[in-house]
Amino acid sequence: MKVELQHLTKIFPSRDKKGKDVVAVSDFTFSIPDGELIGLLGPSGCGKSTTLYMLSGLEKPTGGKIFFGDDDVTDLPAENRGVGLVFQNYALYPHLTVEQNIRFPLENRKGVGKLTKAQIAEKVLEAAKLVQIDGLLHRKPSELSGGQQQRVAIARALVKMPKVLLLDEPLSNLDARLRLQTREEIRRIQKKTGITTVFVTHDQEEAMSISDRIVVMCAGVLQQIGKPQEVYDDPVNLFVAKFLGTPPINMFRGRVEGEQLFIGGDAVLRVPGVRDGVVSVGIRPEGFIPEEDGPLLCKLHNVEVMGRDVSIVAENDAAEAPLIRAIIQSDTRLNRQADTVRFRLKPHKVLLFEPETGARLRFGEEERHG
Ligand code: ADP
Ligand code: MG
Repeated sequence: MKVELQHLTKIFPSRDKKGKDVVAVSDFTFSIPDGELIGLLGPSGCGKSTTLYMLSGLEKPTGGKIFFGDDDVTDLPAENRGVGLVFQNYALYPHLTVEQNIRFPLENRKGVGKLTKAQIAEKVLEAAKLVQIDGLLHRKPSELSGGQQQRVAIARALVKMPKVLLLDEPLSNLDARLRLQTREEIRRIQKKTGITTVFVTHDQEEAMSISDRIVVMCAGVLQQIGKPQEVYDDPVNLFVAKFLGTPPINMFRGRVEGEQLFIGGDAVLRVPGVRDGVVSVGIRPEGFIPEEDGPLLCKLHNVEVMGRDVSIVAENDAAEAPLIRAIIQSDTRLNRQADTVRFRLKPHKVLLFEPETGARLRFGEEERHG
């Protein structure tokens, strides 16, 4: 089911008389292709949950429209939208068994949707198998681990065969290992069922790894939408560049003079098409190549070996943070005892921004694409 948001907006009235209204979601327009998993990504308070609740029908938009396929569902009540919802806290009925919890949405249906006992049992088993908890059907939620409880919640959302699956930070309450395992599980189930899915998270790594497309938001405003790698490689602004990537992008104060980029006194890169002036320079950790006569001189702080990769921690007076971090392959030759290290920069890993607005300043587009 294709999902479309048109100028979707939600304004919450201020809680006290003097306060300002909160624009939780401002003019969201984008469409989610049928069968895709979309990651809604942004820091806490940026309007992710509000967007999801408007899609589910639990929250009424202040403006704009929502379409499921060709149907305008903006005013349709939640129970008639055919959505499955999973929240951060699993919200299972504690007095019911796993089987009864999953069965719950199918009971008390009337008219065309009414199912026989045998049909219900079959659907419950199918959903339980999909999330691999079919061996636990007679347990109570208190007898399950967090990961198993979340699987039950997912099975309960899937049993109705929803047209759209909405997940609000479903992995936040799980420990690191389970989080990884469960996110792979969600991806597997989503691919198998082909249900159009919106996955809300503040964790960029999670969103990047699971999504067909990510939607990056900041303070109720949509920043960028695209395939995870595209958005990482080609962010539209400083916020998106900083929000994606572990370790994060390294920021420097820079200056352009005659299409030459300077960091401190070092002429580090040719930047065709950029006007003279002060710029913010972002360099991805994988954008540094240590070289004896590389143009960017840094003070070597230490070298950390992390299995496959080596992390060079260094200092530079023009850097915005006290330490910068470069990731290089472990077979790169490097004098670890030296006081300094020099780098050449990979041009496509260097991103320039306007210091005031954070808008991206592109360079060498013809050379790169033409
Ligand atoms: P996120 O899920 O990205 O953390 P939310 O969608 O929950 O963000 O909230 C977005 C903004 O809307 C926040 O500033 C939040 O305080 C505000 N907000 C959310 N729900 C309400 C509400 N019921 N009343 C007033 N303000 C709200
Ligand atoms: Mg939220």
